[in-house]
Amino acid sequence: MMTVPLLDLRLQFKAIEDEIRSAIDEVLRTQRFILGPVVSEFEKEIAGYCGAKYAVGVSSGTDALLVSLMALGIGPGDEVITTPYTFFSTVGCISRVGARPVFVDIDPRTFNIDAEGIERAITPGVTKAIIPVHLFGQCAEMDTILELAQQHNLKVIEDAAQAIGAKYKGRNAGAMGDLGCFSFFPSKNLGGFGDGGMVVSNDPQLAERIALLRAHGSKPKYFHSMIGGNFRLDAIQAAVLRVKLPHLETWTEMRRQNAALYGQLLGAIPGGVQTPHIEPHNYSIFNQYVIRVGRRDELMSFLKENGVGCGIYYPLPLHLQKCYEHLGYRKGDFPQAEKAAAESLTIPVFPELTEEQLRYVADRIASFLQGDREPSH
Ligand SMILES: *Cc1c(COP(=O)(O)O)cnc(C)c1O
Repeated sequence: MMTVPLLDLRLQFKAIEDEIRSAIDEVLRTQRFILGPVVSEFEKEIAGYCGAKYAVGVSSGTDALLVSLMALGIGPGDEVITTPYTFFSTVGCISRVGARPVFVDIDPRTFNIDAEGIERAITPGVTKAIIPVHLFGQCAEMDTILELAQQHNLKVIEDAAQAIGAKYKGRNAGAMGDLGCFSFFPSKNLGGFGDGGMVVSNDPQLAERIALLRAHGSKPKYFHSMIGGNFRLDAIQAAVLRVKLPHLETWTEMRRQNAALYGQLLGAIPGGVQTPHIEPHNYSIFNQYVIRVGRRDELMSFLKENGVGCGIYYPLPLHLQKCYEHLGYRKGDFPQAEKAAAESLTIPVFPELTEEQLRYVADRIASFLQGDREPSH
């Protein structure tokens, strides 16, 4: 039996180990761990990569979202529109600044917020921002979102944690809204050796506020014009990420090729699974490859028995989470998100997978669907 992990970062590390060790060594030699030149250089490189004027390194993708909401002055009494089908932190941050998350169901084809449904969720004077999430590496429908935001005077924070390098009609994920948030959590396409994040923007004032807020709102040191926090990116993470960034384009292309092969192989299975729908105007970076299938839980156990790593992103939409009972949502409120949570299954797509492994995964899925449930040996 072959084993195919959902993600194996050791292969990537092996390929760039020497470069990484010397970059870390350099930080150790200088003993400049907090911000400093390595972080500034990395910020410039990310700004360049994302086609944004400014980039501010922060401590995680979650903190990127939190500090973005803080910089926009969003707080108690405000509403922020987002999707119920995302990683918790998108919504958690809205609550943490004291604002109320307002959900809009997803487009079942892309798993992203249904842009057409947003207008109905706007409360005039109360709604302050929209946070579209570019889920699994594919951008949300930004033209509609940006137009609505302009009409209703709302800010747009892109949650691009899963979408570094993704494009929408040729425009870069993260650089379309007022602020764009990235995560360098190890499993993201550009992953550090721990937590890290970045906020990008084309607005100099907002970028300046983010830079202040990430270090307790102080400038000069010990004089505080705003109440910020410690949301800094550390130099060792920046050093590692600077080594990885020049490889990112290649890794993304490898993910896309893996996805293309899955598309062919899984598409050929009679009565098969639903493969990801990528809009023709989108360039997806395939942070995750998510299929939909009716007997999802059975398929997941079958794949695991057959040595194939897989996962569920996400098993319970956020409007049904215990911590959000107070929002008053019920089962049935966002049927597309609920259906996606019941049907979606993430299978391995990371760059270093071999063709043999990809074919094995597809073959196991085919054999499950054709009713042959015995593990192959
Ligand atoms: C990973 C992720 C985050 C949070 O990033 P962290 O760096 O783990 O804090 C936020 N939103 C989405 C959609 C993510 O996938």
